[in-house]
Amino acid sequence: MGRPLALPFALLAAVATTFAAAPAAEAQTLQAVAAQGACSTAGVTKLSDQLVQVQMCLTPGTFVAFTPHAGVTLTSTQVHPYLLATARDALWAAAATTPVQVNSAFRTIADQYVLYYSGACALAATPGNSNHETGRAVDLENWSAAISAMAAAGCVHSYPSSDPVHFDCPGTDHRSDSILAFQRLWNANNPGDVIAEDGAYGPMTEARLAKSPSTGFAKLPACGATTADWAAEFVSQTYPLASAGALTMTVGQELDGDIELKNVGGKAWDGKTFLATTAPRDRASLFVATGWTSSSRPAGVGGVVSPGGAHKFQFRLHAPPTPGDYVEHFGVVEEGMAWFSDPAQGGPSDDLLQVKIHVVAAGGDAGLDAGGGDAASAADAADAGLDAGAGEDAASEIDAGADGATPSNIDGADGAGAGCGCETPRGSRGSREGRTEPTASALAIAALGMLGIVTRRRRRSPVKRAKARQARG
Ligand SMILES: [Zn+2]
Repeated sequence: MGRPLALPFALLAAVATTFAAAPAAEAQTLQAVAAQGACSTAGVTKLSDQLVQVQMCLTPGTFVAFTPHAGVTLTSTQVHPYLLATARDALWAAAATTPVQVNSAFRTIADQYVLYYSGACALAATPGNSNHETGRAVDLENWSAAISAMAAAGCVHSYPSSDPVHFDCPGTDHRSDSILAFQRLWNANNPGDVIAEDGAYGPMTEARLAKSPSTGFAKLPACGATTADWAAEFVSQTYPLASAGALTMTVGQELDGDIELKNVGGKAWDGKTFLATTAPRDRASLFVATGWTSSSRPAGVGGVVSPGGAHKFQFRLHAPPTPGDYVEHFGVVEEGMAWFSDPAQGGPSDDLLQVKIHVVAAGGDAGLDAGGGDAASAADAADAGLDAGAGEDAASEIDAGADGATPSNIDGADGAGAGCGCETPRGSRGSREGRTEPTASALAIAALGMLGIVTRRRRRSPVKRAKARQARG
C-alpha cells in the first residue's frame, strides 16, 4: 500500500480537512442534548434545518423565508429565518418603518423539545404548543423601538411584561405542521417504525423525537409527495396486468384474487376503508360474489393499516349470466369521510383501477372448461408470478424516486426493465381488445385489471348473491 504516498497534495489536504471536521459532527439524541440543561437550540441545528425544509414542502407558499430583506437582521445563526407568508409580510411592513433585529422566529418541534426539556428556559411552551412553531411569532432584540411599527403592521405585543421581546403577527394556527414535518421525516428514515402522520403531538411522536439524531437523518422525504389524509399506491397483485388484455370467464364462473395497496396517506385505514366500484361511484357491479359487503364494495380492510403499511384487498368475481365484454372500475373509499380520488386526497383516480372481462357462454369452449381449465390455471399462475415481479419492481422504483433513498441508479434500471416488461405484448391469453395502455405509469396502477391466478370451480350461491345485492345502499 505505497499508493497513498503518491496522492496529489491537494487530495491529501482534502482528506485531512474532512478528518478535522468529523468530531464536530458528533450525533447525539435530542434527549441527550436536552439533558445538557442549556436553554439553547445550538445542538440541534442540523436536524432543525431538515425539519424546516420538510415543512416548506408541506404547503408551498404558506411557510416562507423572510431574509434576506432590507431592514431585517438576524442576531444569531441559530435563528431560522422562516415565517408564515402573512407574518413575513407584516414583518417586512414594519421593517420599512423601523429596522428590526430578530432574536427568534420559527422554531422546529426539535427546537421546542430541547428548550422545554432542558428545564433551563423560563418560558418554553411544551412541544407542539408554541406560536413560534406556527411561524407567526418573532422575538425582537430592539423590541422597544419597534413596538409602534410592529403594531401598525398588525403584530401584537402579547406579553409586554413577562416576555417583552415577543410579538404575534397575523397568521392562522399551523402548529400541527411542525409536528407533521417531523413525522414525515421520521417515517422516511424509519420504514420499520412508521408512525401516524397526523400532525398531533402524542407519546408515539415524542418517543421518536427523543431518540432522533441531533445531526439530522440520512435523507429527506420527497418534496411535494402527497400529504393527503387518504391515499393509496399500487404495490402488487395476483392478477395479470391490464396490458395483457381482457380476462375470459365463462358465465357463472368465479375467480379469486387480490390486489395489494400501500397506505401513502396520513390517516390509518380501518373498518370503514373499502375497495369500491367507480365510474360511476357506487355502481352496482354485475360481478358481485360471495364475500362482497354489497354490490359496490368488493372488499374492505377490517383491521387497521397505519400510514406506510399495506393491505391485500381479497375478493371474488362472479361472471354475470350474459356473455359480452365488461369493464369494471374501482377506487378506494373511506365511508362517511372521503373518496381517495376526491380533489384534496391522494388517489388513485376513479378510472385508474380497472378490470376488463370477456364473458363467454358456458360450455361454449370445451378447451377452457374441462382439461383446458387446468392448463389455463397453470398459465395464469405463471403469469401471476411474472406480473407480481414486474409490479414490485415498478413499485420499488416509485418508492426510490419518492424518498430519494437510493444513491445509485440500480432501482432505476429495475424500473426501466419493469416498464419494458409492461409494454411487451403477451400471447398467452387472447385479447380481443388488445389496446395498449396510455402510459407505463398508468399501467402499474391499472394493474388491478384482469383477474387470474386461482381458477375455482364455480360455486354458485344464489342466496348469498341476493343478500349481497340487498346489502347495497
Ligand atoms: Zn417569543
